[in-house]
Amino acid sequence: MSAGEDRNVDLFVIGGGSGGVRAARFAAGFGARVAIAEAGRFGGTCVNVGCIPKKLFSYAAHFRDDMHDAADFGWTVGETRFDWPTLIANKDREIARLNGVYERLLANAGVEILRGHARLADAHTVEVGGTRWQAKNILVATGSWPQMPSIPGAEHAISSNEAFALERLPQRAVVVGGGYIALEFASIFNGLGVETTLAYRGARLLRHFDAELGERIADELAKKGVRLRLNAAPLSITRSGNGTLEARFSEGPPVAADLVMFATGRVPNTHGLGLETAGVQCAADGRILVDRMLKSNIDSVYAIGDVANQHNLTPVATAEGMAVARTLFNNEPTPMDYENIATAVFCNPNLATVGLSEAAARKRFAAVDVYRTSFRALKHTLGETDERLFMKLVVDATSARVVGAHMIGPEAGEIIQGVAIAVRLGATKAQFDATIGIHPTSAEEFVTLREKAA
Ligand code: FAD
Ligand code: NDP
Repeated sequence: MSAGEDRNVDLFVIGGGSGGVRAARFAAGFGARVAIAEAGRFGGTCVNVGCIPKKLFSYAAHFRDDMHDAADFGWTVGETRFDWPTLIANKDREIARLNGVYERLLANAGVEILRGHARLADAHTVEVGGTRWQAKNILVATGSWPQMPSIPGAEHAISSNEAFALERLPQRAVVVGGGYIALEFASIFNGLGVETTLAYRGARLLRHFDAELGERIADELAKKGVRLRLNAAPLSITRSGNGTLEARFSEGPPVAADLVMFATGRVPNTHGLGLETAGVQCAADGRILVDRMLKSNIDSVYAIGDVANQHNLTPVATAEGMAVARTLFNNEPTPMDYENIATAVFCNPNLATVGLSEAAARKRFAAVDVYRTSFRALKHTLGETDERLFMKLVVDATSARVVGAHMIGPEAGEIIQGVAIAVRLGATKAQFDATIGIHPTSAEEFVTLREKAA
């Protein structure tokens, strides 16, 4: 149902990214009158400067290993050359197609599509492009924005936003950070032939993951050729006359580079949203504070996705969008459940995880059993590649339930996605063991781990 000219809607969604689009479509599907405003391109971060182009870049970078491995299987691989403009053009074409898909999905669902920056005028009024809309409910789904450290010369650095549209691939790059984006882009640049340094201020990459993942992925990245600098906080960046950048860190000598990229976290996108005018409360880090039903302190205002900063992942934003639509328009109150969210870091090799780290499990349970394995994949046995897979199960010894599964290795995300169903259903270690494996695969190790490591 289109809102037409009367500008009264049941739901006004601000932000046409992962969460906003899903909420708008579902709400309209339940019969609500819905309008959505998008200041940029439909699809938001994930489609335009996040998950999708990142994964395409990641595929591009992995081909270097594939071509190398092919020789071990008897192939003669001729001279190889990588052309960045081709990748960018093909990526842009696919993203433009997805922008269209998102917009059509909204139009077909009967959602009123508005372009421009929207802001709250009060708890039931949204202003966009000089026009005011009255809304029974307002959903803020405005995402997040890169946070750049305020060091001298920070203006010489880029964020992931710009990395997706670089005119030229640099010869030397420094990536600053030790989280998702830093590891993914260090692997992308390195795989595409860029001399890459990854500088992290702490001692262990992926600080919020199981400790062994952070330690082992550092080894794997180094084996692939990434130059690692740990305990190296960024201090300054200077640019010389010929355009070369020099990045200085708290540890080690300066690094000369053609590109410095900060991958140092993101902040909720609330600038100019009028949240104060509407009386919406935010936390100190800028996130909109919401309850389990994703409602803010104002009854008519909800917030989902990165702007609520719970788990900043696309499937979480879309699940939250569906939850709000069901709660408001399908008579189906849907509180969010954030337990056992599987996630992957698409570095090379991939890394994925579901459930608790060993340390978190030891805090929560009286006794914990750990099973782990590390081995060379069959695919690598014919050559010299020394990449090692790593798999780990964390088990609550009292209930015998598997409470955490962790992996480093090819297609870790694809494998952990399946394991996540078992973990979510509360499968026990005995049930894992009773599952007959698929041979020969790497994934079968998850059902054949017999020796307790701890
Ligand atoms: P967004 O998708 O960011 O959408 C917000 C939208 O709101 C934007 O389109 C913005 O233009 C619009 N907007 C903002 N303010 C206004 C306003 N006032 N008026 C109108 N419109 C406005 N997650 C994964 O699950 N897997 C991945 O592999 C993955 N890779 C990522 C890689 C990178 C480089 C980045 C940066 C993120 C990645 N993420 C990934 C995270 C994922 O992209 C986000 O969690 C997800 O996009 C959040 O969705 P959202 O709806 O909250 O916000
Ligand atoms: P992360 O929170 O994952 O990592 C940020 C990193 O930057 C941390 O290592 C942090 O260090 C470091 N850092 C923060 N501030 C500074 C500073 N001032 N100086 C130096 N280092 C700093 O954020 P990302 O930017 O990598 O990604 C943002 C979010 O987007 C992710 O958390 C994730 O939710 C989502 N995302 C998901 C992906 C996926 O699903 N595959 C891929 C990409 C992003 P410390 O650990 O010491 O605090």
